[in-house]
Amino acid sequence: MSKIKRKIAVLTSGGDSAGMNACVRAVVKYGIIRGCEVYVVREGYEGLVRGNVDAPKRKVAFNDSNNDKHHHGDDSAEDKLINNLRFGDGNLLKEGEGDAIEHPGGRSLKGRYIIRVGWDDVRAWFAEGGTLIGTARSAAFRTKEGRLAAANNLITEGIDSIVVCGGDGSLTGADVFRAEWPSLVNELRQSNTITSEQAERYAHLNIAGTVGSIDNDMSMTDITIGAYTALHRICESIDNINSTAFSHSRAFVVEVMGRHCGWLALMAGVSAGADFIFIPERPPVADPWEDDMCKNIQNHRDIGKRKTIVIVAEGAIDANLNPIRAEYVKDVLTERLGLDTRVTCLGHTQRGGRPCAYDRLLPTMQGVEAVDALLESTPESPSYMIAIHENKISRVPLVEAVAQTRAVAKAISEKDFERAMSYRDPEFREMLDGFVAVSSLDYTKKLPKEQRMRVAIINMGAPAGGMNAATRTATRYCIRRGHKPIAIYNGFRGLLEDNVEDLSWLRVDNWMTRGGSELGTNRTLPDIDLGAVASQFQKHRFDAFFLIGGFEAFRSLQILEEARGLYPAFHIPMVCVPATISNNVPVTDYSLGCDTSLNALVEACDAIKQSASASRNRVFVVETQGGKCGYIATMGALATGAVCYYTPEDGITLDGLRKDVEFLKLRYSLDEKGKAEGRLILRNEASSNVFTTDFIQKMLQEEGGSLFDSRMASLGHTLQGGIPSPMDRARAVRFSLKCMAFLERHHISLLAQPELKRKAPEESAAVITIQRNEVGFTPVKCMLARADVKNRRGNKTWWEEYKPMVSMLGGRTALVEEE
Ligand code: ATP
Repeated sequence: MSKIKRKIAVLTSGGDSAGMNACVRAVVKYGIIRGCEVYVVREGYEGLVRGNVDAPKRKVAFNDSNNDKHHHGDDSAEDKLINNLRFGDGNLLKEGEGDAIEHPGGRSLKGRYIIRVGWDDVRAWFAEGGTLIGTARSAAFRTKEGRLAAANNLITEGIDSIVVCGGDGSLTGADVFRAEWPSLVNELRQSNTITSEQAERYAHLNIAGTVGSIDNDMSMTDITIGAYTALHRICESIDNINSTAFSHSRAFVVEVMGRHCGWLALMAGVSAGADFIFIPERPPVADPWEDDMCKNIQNHRDIGKRKTIVIVAEGAIDANLNPIRAEYVKDVLTERLGLDTRVTCLGHTQRGGRPCAYDRLLPTMQGVEAVDALLESTPESPSYMIAIHENKISRVPLVEAVAQTRAVAKAISEKDFERAMSYRDPEFREMLDGFVAVSSLDYTKKLPKEQRMRVAIINMGAPAGGMNAATRTATRYCIRRGHKPIAIYNGFRGLLEDNVEDLSWLRVDNWMTRGGSELGTNRTLPDIDLGAVASQFQKHRFDAFFLIGGFEAFRSLQILEEARGLYPAFHIPMVCVPATISNNVPVTDYSLGCDTSLNALVEACDAIKQSASASRNRVFVVETQGGKCGYIATMGALATGAVCYYTPEDGITLDGLRKDVEFLKLRYSLDEKGKAEGRLILRNEASSNVFTTDFIQKMLQEEGGSLFDSRMASLGHTLQGGIPSPMDRARAVRFSLKCMAFLERHHISLLAQPELKRKAPEESAAVITIQRNEVGFTPVKCMLARADVKNRRGNKTWWEEYKPMVSMLGGRTALVEEE
């Protein structure tokens, strides 16, 4: 075994957030894989300050393998497996040390705050909310003495690297600690608390930060760990409130968290279809804002809307920095509009609960990146905060991120709201504009008559979460701008049957939260009868065409674009939003519906795993949808901690299955007696015609012998999800608005051409795509080269690169030498 590379400690600090456990799990497992010793620090910085009070002070020499029973130069094969896979020094699991602070497993950890951990110590941490290693707000760490004690404790344990998962305060603390470190080491040396050898060896502290905060209040990253789970909780509550509000024709004022950041209020407003929101960084522009709010809500009531939802962030303020309180908003609605109004404060329900799929994937990817950042760190390199931009994990200098975050609060206090907004990511501003566009019936925003369009909206392929939200957004945008939104029911078949109808503002009001497709959808392509399709385009005088769907939508767009030479009716701007749970549209990293689907998968697998664990030694083979695309199986495996997974891209071979059986036998043989874990295998439905889910389950049952048994479960259409996830709803809004602007832009430029001779340029038939950190429009012509039309998927997929991570964190890489 190679020598220990680093000794890494991971801690969670500040307010807890869902996904912190997944971050700790990833740091522990990946750290071990990379040859590091990994420690957890209980109770945040407080644990760092207290250290191991009862433990005898040890002098640990870095990389001195003789001091460490686990790292002899020449381990036997079995030792190697146990060192890698089972426990650290087992401290987290040791029983009977007193009764102070309990580990969730029931083990006492009295007087010990910095604890060596191993692979199995973090098993099944994915599904747990909050943080299992504890968090605290440490006053001691804010003092120089506290940080001196923390430095001494780290050096005493031989730790040279830390990962801090917390909010802006915690990362500020990390930054202070990093800057101060050389002087702390110097002071410890001067007082003879540490040796000069230690002072030299620990002259530099490596720090990486991951942002765990439900408020999403950190600058220089799009999203923080726990924010989406909090949004799930908020949307669940508002979805529930909606039905009672509708029944009684009531108004509800909902208060959500967010002292300095309105992300939760804004995203909840967008995803839950609220009427009005109040956030800290953009106070209401109108003065007095009460008039504006009442006018907006009255407009809705006038057209027959029965319910009103207003969302207030806890840090909401007016333009003069006076707080806007939920109770006051309620009084205004009651007194001025005569509405029966109630206040609901969601409070700590927003923090808790099972992490959503994204809060398992994001912290896993970021935990791995944090370990890489530590291993690559040098005294010259800056400390990094691990960030994400659109779909790309990246590193940003911690100091800059902390400074920019502080600058937001300062800008707000100076009433410079434009500056405050400029520090938020671009999506924030787009969402705010988007919210206004879909929630306010403002009749002053209409375009001149000659620029208005008749916009046809169609859903294609299988239903996917977010399709209705996209249709709703397009409809409302159109109405606000004076365009005519026209529904085509039941896809191209419906168009040929003249199943076409105008949409209205109120008709789509509840569509945000509805799963499936309200317009109806099927897989019929327009080439079933292109001439008839063109004649319907002409008959209904479509000026623009908006497709929402998966591979079929993309193919339909391509067919229509290619037919422009034959049919002038297709010389109009056309755009497609990818929406499919399989996420198989080429070029784009993301399709609407795939987040809803991953959440459905995670929920089902949590239940299955619980059953598998209760039976102690059961392997569940779970079959997923996805057609010929392995997205759900691969990312699902990463989000559930599956030990094996099978995709159509890789197929299944006899040799591979043999290795999987060997791996499972080895893994189960290492479980503590009576404490074997339930384990998951995910298999995409189209991975192999021969090695079916049923076959694999029976094979494992036969081969498992006394070590494990197996069962199978097919998730089938449950993966299309019930209620769409907040991410799919919010992205539906964002993408639809961009698409509408795209159609408008191309329509206006086409108007410059003589009416009967208009030639729409190639780029006016496009798909909106996310590629890493960029959202843009890819002309459908350019997409064909990157499509595997036979297998209905893209040629190259971004999630391929996460396959090694699934194998690593599933334990396979460490146990079995991969070929
Ligand atoms: P949340 O976003 O949930 O509030 P947070 O990480 O911002 O989380 P804070 O209470 O602000 O929570 O900070 C957590 C801990 O980080 C503090 O209790 C303190 O120990 C440490 N900390 C914060 N700021 C500093 C600082 N300037 N110097 C040293 N330590 C700090």
